[in-house]
Amino acid sequence: MSGLNLAQQEAVNYLHGPCLVLAGAGSGKTRVITHKIGRLIQSGVEGKRILAITFTNKAAAEMRERARALIGREAKDVVICTFHALGVRLLRQDGQVLGLKPQFSILDQDDVTSIIRDAAGGTTDAATARQWQWTISLWKNMGLNAQQAEAQAKDDNERVLARIMGKYEERLAAYQSVDFDDLIGLPLKLLHQHEEVRAKWQKHLGHVLVDEYQDTNATQYELLKLLVGERGRFTAVGDDDQSIYGWRGATLDNLKRLPQDWPQLKVIKLEQNYRSTSAILRAANNVIQPNPKLFPKTLFSELGEGEPVRVVDCDNEEHEADRAVARIQSLRANGAGKDWKDFAILYRANHQARVFEQALRKAQIPYKVSGGQSFFDRAEIRDLCAWLRLWVNTDDDPAFLRAVTTPKRGIGHQTLGALGEFAGKYRLSLYGALFSSSLPSVMSARALGSLQEFGRFVNDLEYRARHTLGAEDARRFLTDWLKDIGYEQHLLDSEDSEKVAASRWSNVMDFCDWMAQRCGGQIEDTAGVQVASERKSLLEVAQTIALLSTISEREQDQNVVTLSTLHASKGLEWPHVVLAGCVEGLLPFKIDDDDINRGQTSEGILQRLQEERRLMYVGITRAQRTLAVSWMKRRKKGRETVAATPSRFIAEMALDKATVREDPREKLKALRAEFALKSAASAAAAAAAAKGG
Ligand code: ATP
Ligand code: MG
Repeated sequence: MSGLNLAQQEAVNYLHGPCLVLAGAGSGKTRVITHKIGRLIQSGVEGKRILAITFTNKAAAEMRERARALIGREAKDVVICTFHALGVRLLRQDGQVLGLKPQFSILDQDDVTSIIRDAAGGTTDAATARQWQWTISLWKNMGLNAQQAEAQAKDDNERVLARIMGKYEERLAAYQSVDFDDLIGLPLKLLHQHEEVRAKWQKHLGHVLVDEYQDTNATQYELLKLLVGERGRFTAVGDDDQSIYGWRGATLDNLKRLPQDWPQLKVIKLEQNYRSTSAILRAANNVIQPNPKLFPKTLFSELGEGEPVRVVDCDNEEHEADRAVARIQSLRANGAGKDWKDFAILYRANHQARVFEQALRKAQIPYKVSGGQSFFDRAEIRDLCAWLRLWVNTDDDPAFLRAVTTPKRGIGHQTLGALGEFAGKYRLSLYGALFSSSLPSVMSARALGSLQEFGRFVNDLEYRARHTLGAEDARRFLTDWLKDIGYEQHLLDSEDSEKVAASRWSNVMDFCDWMAQRCGGQIEDTAGVQVASERKSLLEVAQTIALLSTISEREQDQNVVTLSTLHASKGLEWPHVVLAGCVEGLLPFKIDDDDINRGQTSEGILQRLQEERRLMYVGITRAQRTLAVSWMKRRKKGRETVAATPSRFIAEMALDKATVREDPREKLKALRAEFALKSAASAAAAAAAAKGG
């Protein structure tokens, strides 16, 4: 119980019923979860019966690390993962009752787009398909299937889309594949419809803990409810002021529903912030103040007033980046921040990262971009993942198509078209159709030969991957396989620049290393010490990769400056933060002032503005010791450069005007003005004295 205040202790000790910790930023909510895991183990709950749900894979990795430091070995069995990873577990174990094989595939966004295009007849452009994907996803998150979506459709367009959704769902079932929304929707269906499965999980789970509860959506809430049952042994922690995923369907209703669904709910509030200085906390409290209050709360800090929050005026994006870098350098030079990892630059949109990257590179400062393009979104990694997916699930048609054509092996569109038609007619997967006795009637012997050779190759790889155990063997296997398919040559052939090909190949090598590491045996722990770990087969590891979005869980230990979107900064903290791009149009994002001024403040705009304000609050509260908020007078908007005005949120922070400006020119101006005032005053005094005399 050391390192916990009384309210935190109360939350940690409350083991036998539903508990909600509702508190502002930096008040130790996540800390409550980690400590409560320890307390549960201490009270005799087995590690494997404890489930902690985090918002990202990275947060899960960090919590695992903390739990291990706090509890030791026994933390090993605790399940710490995201809602989506939990869905995978549930479906792998019990999805058969829904007709899903345990080796089902998880489709990424690109696969989904192309299946939707295909379902719509193949002539749709990618942008429209993505729009549709978005709507279908929203429907799924509302718990609607295709028929229900059609029944509630508002117009013909929606009715057409609902029918496309129906075809899309049929294809997913045929491919034994699920999309990201299914990872919540299907487990929900599973637990809802199958009482024996539900009873099993409810009995199994001793306690469920949920971090960042304010950003759960309606289906996640239902899932949680079915998992914990009436007994409701769970702990949810959250902050309504930090709800920033409304645009993706997260709903604060989930906070309101808890006390209704569990009248015995214990609500605990935490009021002390342990992260930020008073100056930073005051700015945060001021910013969030105009938002309607779901649960009023007050936050205080005992870390002292600290440095005033600075506003940095810049001319344009480049100037802003230079000033951020200069600030980091000077803070480091005067000893305020020892390590590069003490600094973060946060911004609203991914594209803002580029100028900061350039400035940091110029200054030779190491950095990482988080929340940007994930390693797993790179084409070369997606190629390899398609192969792995195919070993795991030969019915995964999208993976089949990618693997059979990457690298090219002389199997063309026509052959694949004929195969696809044949498979569709006999309701087989593409792979399943390869060895059908009537396939020879629809294609040439040569085409058939190449296809079957590919099939045998995949079969052989699957067999070997299943029997490859431990890091060393896995590394050897992967190297041989890449040589067999000629992947390095493929990169050289498909890239104009050798340098680009080499960098892609180096990503491939990183990926193989990382896969191999996960197969266990001897691995390095975070301190670089060799430790023994359980050996897993390469196939087993391949089953889990579709979910991961970061290559290395050790990334957070790197001593580098962090560049991050505000969304991806949730839950994290840094001693020094620069909150960049605080101009109208960027933060708040794309909210047209004219709309508001013209009195067209629709409910929708107002809600978006409130969510942007929460985002600003999240940004401010990431800072521990210093915070600078920067804005620029002119900014790029598409190809144009336009005049920009400071974000309304800067004014809302209500900073002390005398101390906030950081621009030296501004300071000079202020000094001059002060000097002018003083000399005017002394001149006036002299004049008065002369008169009086
Ligand atoms: P957020 O709302 O941003 O997710 P949080 O409420 O989850 O924040 P934590 O990240 O758990 O807050 O804690 C914030 C910081 O305060 C951490 O550095 C944590 O170690 C520290 N902290 C939390 N509780 C205490 C405590 N009782 N004593 C000392 N330090 C604490
Ligand atoms: Mg937290």
